[in-house]
Amino acid sequence: MMENNKIQPENMKAAGSAIKVVSFDVEGTMVTTDFSTAIWFEMIPQRYAERWGLSFAEATRKIKQEYDSLGDQHIDWYDVQYWFTRFDLGQADIAMEGLQPRVKYYPETKEVLKKLDGKYKLSVASGSPRPFLKHLLRDIEHHFSAVYSSTTDFQQVKTVEFWAGMCRDLGVEPGQVVHIGDHRQFDFLEPASIGIRAYHLDRDRKAGDTESLQSLSELVSLLSEGKINSEVDNADNSHHTG
Ligand SMILES: [Mg+2]
Repeated sequence: MMENNKIQPENMKAAGSAIKVVSFDVEGTMVTTDFSTAIWFEMIPQRYAERWGLSFAEATRKIKQEYDSLGDQHIDWYDVQYWFTRFDLGQADIAMEGLQPRVKYYPETKEVLKKLDGKYKLSVASGSPRPFLKHLLRDIEHHFSAVYSSTTDFQQVKTVEFWAGMCRDLGVEPGQVVHIGDHRQFDFLEPASIGIRAYHLDRDRKAGDTESLQSLSELVSLLSEGKINSEVDNADNSHHTG
């Protein structure tokens, strides 16, 4: 249990006021997966087909096998240049720049950032490598005072060590951070396990978990209604969602 002896008494009088940082995952959370899909399932198989003299369908089957054989728990899986090198496809960064028009934000993203900017310190906690974030955040990065890429900065997926390192770097206790993201393990279970107020975003309600949020706007409502506070275990008046 995290107890609050490091929180100054004057901060404890208003329950909601102790949240200092609102942290966002990027892909599947603020930005759609269109850009990534275009890279992994259009550009790479297309180049692979040309390089190795296969049909697009054959190339797609082959690269999917290769992706799956490595798996998303491995940091190389996230690295486009790793795959470009492995498949002998040239320079990834030049190819990625050409796909910038494929970056798409979810409808509420920009409005939500505008509403929260100035009220909280906003930060990014993403598993995407920085070469991706450069494109994915281009239109919204002015809202964020910090951007963390677990794969580039910490050489790992978003484990407990990543979340603890992020809090240390931000100079806050885990209970002063709200995070939202669409990966149940990396954005919810792992950060929640060290006391971050984590919310799982499930836009399509695929997981069927009633505690998940369906849009970023729901997080704004919870914050503005003071329903999120930093006291981790307050059985009397502190409820997570639902
Ligand atoms: Mg995500």
